[in-house]
Amino acid sequence: MNEQQRMRELCDILNKWAYEYYVLDAPSVTDREYDRLYDELRALERDTGVVFADSPTRRVGGEPVKGFERHTHIARLFSLDKAVSEDELGAFFTRVKKAGNATFTVEYKYDGLTVCLTYEGGAFVRATTRGNGVEGEDVTAQVLTVQSFPMKISYTGTLEVRGEAIIRLSALKKYNDEHPEEPLKNARNAAAGAIRNLDPKVTRTRRPEILFYDINYMSENPLSSQAEEREFLIREGFKTFPYFRLCKTPEEVLSCIDEIEVERRNLDVLTDGAVVKVNEEALRSDMGATDKFPRWAIAYKFEAEEAETTVERVFWQVGRTGKLTPLAEVAPVELAGATVRRATLNNFGDLTKKDVKVHSRVLIRRSNEVIPEILGAVSHVEGSVPVEKPQTCPYCGSPVSEVGANLFCTNEDCPPRVVQKLTHYCSKNAADVEGMSEETLQFLFDKGKVRRFSDLYALTRGSFLDEKGELFRGFGEKKINNLLSAVEASKRIPLDRFLYAIGIGGIGRVAARDLAAFGSVEAVSKLTFEELTALENVGEITANSILAYFSDPVNAEELKRLAGAGVEPYTKARVTEGVFAGESVVLTGTLSAMSRPEAQAKIEALGGVCQSAVTGKTTLVIAGEKAGSKLDKAKKAGIRIIGEEEFLAILGGA
Ligand SMILES: [Zn+2]
Repeated sequence: MNEQQRMRELCDILNKWAYEYYVLDAPSVTDREYDRLYDELRALERDTGVVFADSPTRRVGGEPVKGFERHTHIARLFSLDKAVSEDELGAFFTRVKKAGNATFTVEYKYDGLTVCLTYEGGAFVRATTRGNGVEGEDVTAQVLTVQSFPMKISYTGTLEVRGEAIIRLSALKKYNDEHPEEPLKNARNAAAGAIRNLDPKVTRTRRPEILFYDINYMSENPLSSQAEEREFLIREGFKTFPYFRLCKTPEEVLSCIDEIEVERRNLDVLTDGAVVKVNEEALRSDMGATDKFPRWAIAYKFEAEEAETTVERVFWQVGRTGKLTPLAEVAPVELAGATVRRATLNNFGDLTKKDVKVHSRVLIRRSNEVIPEILGAVSHVEGSVPVEKPQTCPYCGSPVSEVGANLFCTNEDCPPRVVQKLTHYCSKNAADVEGMSEETLQFLFDKGKVRRFSDLYALTRGSFLDEKGELFRGFGEKKINNLLSAVEASKRIPLDRFLYAIGIGGIGRVAARDLAAFGSVEAVSKLTFEELTALENVGEITANSILAYFSDPVNAEELKRLAGAGVEPYTKARVTEGVFAGESVVLTGTLSAMSRPEAQAKIEALGGVCQSAVTGKTTLVIAGEKAGSKLDKAKKAGIRIIGEEEFLAILGGA
């Protein structure tokens, strides 16, 4: 065997051992054995002056660099849209469902630094940070010191893979024990600091790892699903994280998220959520991306910090929809810097599901809402009492209706419900009546001054006077002036915020924006079921609730009163002239010249209306690359279809 053959052999053995050690966490040899062969290889490399591309000696990382060079990614590295509530996840599932039949993958969301590795002709060539998604920093020398990826792979096309550089909590502790003079504060900053350190030797001492989870670009034989991508990564020797679930339904996804929420606390890696992706590549390209995020993936973020306490009493709150929410008084406990005395459960069903009884020990979590949430019972004591299901509303005595896991007070005028509706109407993202707090509204309600939204506009200074003609306690002239002018100012309100404010069931801020595109409350009130469900963020249940809202004479009268009081929802005027005037357009597939939102803006500027799904009203379908189910549907319906070239020609002509 000549020297180079021996070097080849040594590289292969050492790489195999490194793979076992760093990727599989299953070393088959001692460090001494590894070091012996490593030293032999180093000596041969010095003698011959030859260093193979996949030589483990290259992993040392080399000399410090002066600065990071900028590098443009082959394909854009998107960041993910975030959801922090099940409602927001629900909106995501609605969006996916409209696009087609999807399965989902669920993975951990890591809290580190995203890096992108490029391979050409089967060899590792470069590592970059995500940067702004289009352009990142070249951190090849630093990443080379990380061992959790292969230098050589069997795939010979151009490949970009994506992973998260992390530092294990145990590695952080070890580093801090070894460097007590300059400890690293937290694992997240430590990982970013390690990779973005100009000296690769510093990177190495911090022992970062990279966990791989995505393929960003493949020049040949691109894979057709997330599951295949993961298999590919594992096969090629990249370190992946063991948790990976393929789910058939949103319900399965939710239970995986619950699972992650529990398991992540026992993990050596910092995580702050779960990532949910549409598994099928074809559907992904059909769904496309906004200018910021892909539409086919979402990061569910856990904001939470948790604590254990005891339930002392459970009572019920009535929200603006009439929903009865169980609220627990708990033994005071410190959570995220505050003393917690109350915690909520989502609904009646939650009590049973989470097995929460009075006197049970429970785990509570700080949430994005003001009141922390009960995650579940930890243990029960003798004398733990199940919570009884209320048969009537605890506030107004009206019968309670049961819908799924929820209980509702059936009385539209139930006092706490009315106050909550008013509070919602006045909130920042709705009519934004500054200073009109829940307490103030409760007070005005108790005094009989405000029942409906329109009553707000009839408020005067006189509304704040008692029988003796004196100002109510707690209300000064200045405060009253401010409230009255805030009410006045809320008369000019963007249409989407108005539609959100009036509290139509199921209409959140996103769906309200979809509806506002129709230009007026009147236009929205005339939409049909088909037109409503064609909107991206409106499902069947919400569509029915919109129809029910506008067909209710009580609501019609209130809308009339609001208009009479001078409330004028406004919207940007819609263009009705241009080459696309009268056309209802659906975009499908990927356009090479522009993003989907750009194309939509251009169509709308030329008088067209964009739809997200093919319906009876669709008159034109623009089909880009890899167009999917929408194209098939359009063909069947005999709708006019044009390709990107023709679309660009029309734009050029206009
Ligand atoms: Zn009630």
